[in-house]
Parts: sequence; C-alpha cells; structure tokens
Amino acid sequence: MSTESTVGGPALPQRRNIVTEIPGPVSRELLERRQHSVARGLSHVLPVFVTAAGGGVLVDVDGNSLIDFGSGIAVTSVGNSAEAVVSRVTEQVAQFTHTCFMVAPYQGYVEVCEELNRLTPGTHEKRSALFNSGAEAVENAVKIARHYTGRQAVVVFDHAYHGRTNLTMAMTAKNMPYKDGFGPFAGEVYRAPMAYPFRWPGGPAQCAKEALDVITGMIHAQVGEERVAAIVIEPILGEGGFIVPPDGFLPGLADYAREHGIVFIADEIQAGFCRTGDWFACDHEGVVPDLVTTAKGIAGGLPLAGVTGRAEIMDSVHPGGLGGTYGGNPVACAAALGAIETMTKEDLPARARRIGDIMLPRLRALAEKYPVIGDVRGRGAMIAVELVKPGTIDPDGAAASKVAKACHAAGLLVLTCGTYGNVLRFLPPLVIGDDLLNEGLDILESAFAAL
Ligand SMILES: *Cc1c(COP(=O)(O)O)cnc(C)c1O
Repeated sequence: MSTESTVGGPALPQRRNIVTEIPGPVSRELLERRQHSVARGLSHVLPVFVTAAGGGVLVDVDGNSLIDFGSGIAVTSVGNSAEAVVSRVTEQVAQFTHTCFMVAPYQGYVEVCEELNRLTPGTHEKRSALFNSGAEAVENAVKIARHYTGRQAVVVFDHAYHGRTNLTMAMTAKNMPYKDGFGPFAGEVYRAPMAYPFRWPGGPAQCAKEALDVITGMIHAQVGEERVAAIVIEPILGEGGFIVPPDGFLPGLADYAREHGIVFIADEIQAGFCRTGDWFACDHEGVVPDLVTTAKGIAGGLPLAGVTGRAEIMDSVHPGGLGGTYGGNPVACAAALGAIETMTKEDLPARARRIGDIMLPRLRALAEKYPVIGDVRGRGAMIAVELVKPGTIDPDGAAASKVAKACHAAGLLVLTCGTYGNVLRFLPPLVIGDDLLNEGLDILESAFAAL
C-alpha cells in the first residue's frame, strides 16, 4: 500500500515517527489536567493524547506518529475518519442530528437494519433494532429472548465479556477490574466452562466434544433446559483472551440450543464486521444464530449497536417494548452505512485474511524462539499470543505487560487481554499497509528479545 492513506482516513503519512519519549511533554501535561478533572476509574492503555488518526497510525499532541494495532478495541476497522464515513456523516450532520426514532423516524435507521439483516448469518426473515453501545445491545438481546421464550435463565461462559452495565457485568466473567465491588449483580445468569483448547484438561483434540458434554450436563443438572431463555457466546472470545473455540463446538452448541427451544445469541460485538476474515465470525463454520449482537466495528468509530435476528423472535416484543432516546442516531447510522460501503468496496474480509496470513507465520516463528509464548491463535485480523511460564501453561501476565510497555515506548500500540492478563492481542485497522504491519511485528520481536 502507498505511504499516504486515503481509504482509512485523512492523508496522514503512513509511517512511525517518534520524536519525544512516550508519552511526550504535552501529553504528560494533559494527563496532569486529566487527573484533576476525569474520574480515576477510567484508565488508559497508552496515555498519548491523539490529534489525528488514519490508515494504520495515530498522531499525538507531541507530533509522534504511532503504529496502531488496537483500532480503539476493534472499532476503526475501516480506519479512522474513513472517506465514506466522513462524507456521509458530514452530510447527515448538516441535515439533522436527532429526532429520536421512536418520535419521528428517518430512512438511515431502516437502511442500517436492512444491511444488518442482509449481512448477518442466515437467509431467513430477520428484523433489527439499534442501540448505542455493545452492552445495551446484549441487554436487549436478553430482554427479547426472555420475552419470546417466557423463560428467565441465561447461560454464559468462563472468560466471557459482555459489558459493564448491571446485567452485562453479571454475564462478564472477570472480576477485576470489571465487577469488583459493583454488585449485587442481576440474577438468573449461569456460567458454563468455555471450550478453551489451550487450557482444556483433556487436550485440544478432545475439547469440542468434552466441553459440549460438560456444558449440556451442567445445564441439565443445575438449571433445567426448559428454564433457559438464551445461551450467549462470543464466537471468538474478545476481552477474555481471544479464545478460538475448536471446530465443531459452536455448531454443536447451536444445535443443542435449537433442540431445547433456547435462543442462541452470538455476541459478535468484537469479532464481527470483517475482523476475522468473514463478515461475521459465525460464518467460518456456517453457524446461524437466532440473534446476533453487533457494535464496535459497525460504524467507523461512531457509537452504534444492533440486535439482529429471526423475525418471529424479534417481533414477539410489543410496540414500545424496545427503544431508547439515542439508539440508532441518524449521524451514527450515516457512519454505519459509510463503514459498510467501505468494507464492501475495499473487500475488507479479504484484507483481514491477508493480515492474518502475514501475522500468524511471523508470530509462530517467534513462539519457536521464545518459550514464553505458549499459544498463537486467532483468525483474520483478530490475533493473539498467550504468554506463560516457559514449559508450563501457568499464565505470565507480568511478561505480557512488559512486552506491551516496550512496544508502546517504541511507538507500537498493542493491547493486552485475558482473564489472567497474559494475552497480547492484535487488532490492526483492516486498512493498515503491509509495511506498517511488518514494522509493528519487528517492534514486537525486539520486545520479546529484550524480555
Ligand atoms: C466491547 C464488548 C461489549 C460491550 O460493548 P460496549 O460498547 O463497550 O458496551 C460486549 N461484548 C463484547 C464481545 C465486546 O467485545
């Protein structure tokens, strides 16, 4: 790709250029102001204050240009300020900014729902509803499933992440920092073991079958199949450690849900919208969920989320039962239409696969060299390495944060994740150039060498 990016944002030079220490003096000054004005509960992965971003770079107030392997947590898949997003948003913001879809509707909302119905897995009749955040989409998917089934129980998984609202905190697995001291949590949420090949006691080959046996046995014994409204699962786990379930697991789980009248909900908020090399992660094995939640990558950085699913399930809710003041805001809808246009025109699923084809072999080579890397996994441009005490599967969170810090100092933004904080995850914008991608991997390699 060229050194100037236009697809993925303003024409910023697509290069790393570090001119101060990270964070630089102006960022540190702003950070000081931030300490006195912004609540302590909000933390930063890398406290450089951004002034521009596009393609595969972030530019900060000190004039540093950093390589972005985070995409604002899988949000700016089409790049920051992508051309089609900017033009549609600009046009919309000048026309009108808000009516509230529940007060007086507008076309953009309907168009986004049409696109969601068309793009999500399955060719059955679908309906969609739009919201502001991923957590709100998950909450609404559960509301709809409960209303449709007349049942209450919700089954979720170890290592799951579904958000920070009360119900979604209950559904999220990890205590610190998401849940600690924030209870009591919503009831009727049951947690099952996750099919996690790297850590499955019987080994990865047995993982799919054994996990399904354990999960269905647990539901039977502890909940009762006929009490379960929904099974909610991320088709590739995000915050929980980029856990890719073994082949056969998701289809098996979906079949089981269907057999028992349980609504099967795929939380595609992080994995969806081209990230894994398909439009949705469920597409990989042809899994067709009853409901799909989307957010993050959907609107090129503007806040938007959706629930899409079988018409009979979605339409079981009475008029007025769903909504919210801002859900499906016209500006966010315009952004989503611009993002979807970009994903289609630029064939971003193919681009995600190419990113995986570049990253995975290099990361596997690193794992050969550095035994601290216990596992390399992921699909498309949703890739991670899990760090362990060499020769064991004991998590090494300290090593992960050391490598991340070294990358940050060198001008590569990487994120960590995982229940044990020992996973480095890579989510580059899908429009990043090959040169930057390889340079980022060079930096990562040096960070491992220095560990
Ligand atoms: C980020 C995320 C959420 C929550 O989305 P918010 O927009 O932060 O509320 C829910 N589920 C998954 C899988 C996520 O990655």
